[in-house]
Amino acid sequence: MAQVRLEHVGKVYPGNVRAVNDFNLTINDGEFMVMVGPSGCGKSTTLRMVAGLEEISEGTVTIGDRVVNDVLPKDRDIAMVFQNYALYPDKTVYENMAFCLKMRNFMPPANNDDAGFLGSLTSWWKNRQIKRAEIDRRVREAADILGINELLNRRPKALSGGQRQRVAVGRCIVRNPAVFLFDEPLSNLDAKMRVQMRTEISRLHNRLETTMIYVTHDQTEAMTMGDRIVVMKDGLIQQVATPADLYDSPKNIFVAGFIGTPPMNFFDARIAKVDGKLQIKEESFALDVPAAWQAKLEPYIDKKVVFGLRPEHVGSPSAEGIEHAPTIPAVVEVIEPMGSETYLYMKTGATGFIARVDPHRSCEVGDQLNLAVIMANGHVFDVDTTASII
Ligand code: ADP
Repeated sequence: MAQVRLEHVGKVYPGNVRAVNDFNLTINDGEFMVMVGPSGCGKSTTLRMVAGLEEISEGTVTIGDRVVNDVLPKDRDIAMVFQNYALYPDKTVYENMAFCLKMRNFMPPANNDDAGFLGSLTSWWKNRQIKRAEIDRRVREAADILGINELLNRRPKALSGGQRQRVAVGRCIVRNPAVFLFDEPLSNLDAKMRVQMRTEISRLHNRLETTMIYVTHDQTEAMTMGDRIVVMKDGLIQQVATPADLYDSPKNIFVAGFIGTPPMNFFDARIAKVDGKLQIKEESFALDVPAAWQAKLEPYIDKKVVFGLRPEHVGSPSAEGIEHAPTIPAVVEVIEPMGSETYLYMKTGATGFIARVDPHRSCEVGDQLNLAVIMANGHVFDVDTTASII
């Protein structure tokens, strides 16, 4: 187990392609940290710099108490699971897992008590036995953790995608590394298997309590797996926070729109002062702002802002349950029943938005509705900086 620290880390690829810029992050000992962001935002590059597979152009990476910038990957005490987990096709599951220990010249504590030629031969033989027994113990323990005991004698071609991925993870577990690195490990699996493996990896983390860094472009994976999440864009960290904090208090429009499905609704609006009170004014609606927002919004009077509202905060049962809640008038364009809830694709003026409503709410395409809003859960963003004001 180890803490991983990245300080002012940057990566410039040949051709002056800047992939990562001034990346600062401390991943605590035993933490599950997820890096998430759209394709090309620099998350794999960052992970590969931690792994030692990519040269670090700027800054330092520290694993435990050792700066590893110049340490070879094999000496960094890390294990990495990739999207394309290449198992040896002609080896069994057992051999695939044992092989990396053999290759790494893994040595349990040696027994060197005996002296002389015969003694050396005996101790060589004893050490060999100890090594074999230790490898066997580790492989069986990993197989046990992953529930693949019955597969140990099979070859990879006789395994499903999920089972192969489990073996790839097993190969890492046997090494007992200080840090696990995962680079989009579930991308090649079908949707159902992805969900299953997601919980398995989380369970694995709970059991091993090893530091894990997990890269994904999938915000659902990030939200469900991470102790904390790093949201990246264009090589820059946008926000580092727990899943709940990211969802409730996104620092800017990018994070607000990236985290959450269906995504947050955005409205181009301005702040107006009417009869001494502030309002969020859009072309087709005006909403009184909560008293707690007044001071922060004063400087924005008569200025443009972006109003953000998650789908569950407009037209939802909890919104409709509020007495005298402000409303947004809108027309139903598409109805998507999901079973436990229904998504209404609405149009107010020229702006589209999504409302998460009670599945039993009766409405039809073309209906004009007044949807209640939970203002206390709304967000207001600065148009120029895109930073959150509220
Ligand atoms: P992500 O993992 O977020 O999809 P990457 O870290 O793979 O992003 O890539 C970040 C940026 O660096 C992208 O613009 C990508 O094109 C660029 N890049 C990645 N690898 C190389 C490389 N070997 N040479 C040049 N540019 C690269």
